[in-house]
Amino acid sequence: MSCIFCQIIDGSIPSKAIYQDEHCYAFADVKPQAPVHILVVPRQHIVSIAQAGKEHTSLLGHLQWAAAEIARTKGLTQGYRTVINTGEDGGQTVGHIHIHLLGGRPMAWPPG
Ligand code: AMP
Repeated sequence: MSCIFCQIIDGSIPSKAIYQDEHCYAFADVKPQAPVHILVVPRQHIVSIAQAGKEHTSLLGHLQWAAAEIARTKGLTQGYRTVINTGEDGGQTVGHIHIHLLGGRPMAWPPG
């Protein structure tokens, strides 16, 4: 059984698509933490940033570019936050790398 985000990418679990290309798929988070909350996910299954290798650097850069491009199309001119949760202490609950794009309200710092 593939992971939940692999199933979203292959369409077996429905999602609200926001952006997609040959490297990534972006969709609305089911439990939004901000007016805009989008997940940018590589099509390739990589468990977390801690498991990513040097061969993934261009893919990781592409994911960050995609998040910025989505922010532009969403009109987040006041700013936004991108987050990658990693492992248990990082609060990662789905074992497939994803960038959270959060915007539409001011963000607190430091995060909880
Ligand atoms: P993280 O806790 O950083 O691993 O983030 C996982 C995110 O995936 C959470 O914000 C969840 O709300 C989101 N999520 C889990 N299942 C789905 C789903 N089926 N569709 C959209 N977002 C989901």
